Amino acid sequence: MAAADVKAVNHIGIAVRSIEAQKEYYTDVLGAAFEGEEVVADQKVKVGFFRVGPVRFELLEPTDPTSTVAAFIEKKGEGLHHVALEVDDIDARIADVKARGLRMIDEKARPGSHHLQIAFVHPKSTFGVLTELCEVSKEAH
Ligand code: ZN
Repeated sequence: MAAADVKAVNHIGIAVRSIEAQKEYYTDVLGAAFEGEEVVADQKVKVGFFRVGPVRFELLEPTDPTSTVAAFIEKKGEGLHHVALEVDDIDARIADVKARGLRMIDEKARPGSHHLQIAFVHPKSTFGVLTELCEVSKEAH
């Protein structure tokens, strides 16, 4: 049985060297609402949240040179990093994606920022778009 449709684009992840250096562009030029910052220690990033309508831009700034985001910037430069799709039941979705032969980076959901449970699908299985599946934790409601 196919999993339920993806509900929404939850956020768009952007790899940046400095959130501070880009803040004015998002807030003053685009008029996005700055919603604060959060350090996600296990990913070695600081995340800055900028909301445009129902979608957030998440600016990912590495806090350590060993961060995967630092490696990404080193290789590709700053810019679009991933698209996050909101799903109802992330465990069922991961099982469905794997059953269809797609490769997961995260075999199991793990905690992300903003009370999300997240898991990345490998970009080799998604036509080059690093895709994050996310589910809003029940505790956040
Ligand atoms: Zn994300």
